[in-house]
Amino acid sequence: MKDWGAAMDTSIGCKELGLSCDFVIVGETGENVIEALMRHVKEEHTDDWFEIEEIYQVACTVARTKAA
Ligand SMILES: [Zn+2]
Repeated sequence: MKDWGAAMDTSIGCKELGLSCDFVIVGETGENVIEALMRHVKEEHTDDWFEIEEIYQVACTVARTKAA
């Protein structure tokens, strides 16, 4: 298990995932943020569903970088 929880609040925005959207999610851990962000992506960016796995990978990378 990754120890992402030790850091401060993490935030990820859709723009960091390459989406033209102002949505930003803030959470205590990278896992929480990614979960909420992916929920948003699935609801609001249905056109991008074919990229969902790629978006998820980018979100993980961003969260890990910020938590470091
Ligand atoms: Zn969005």
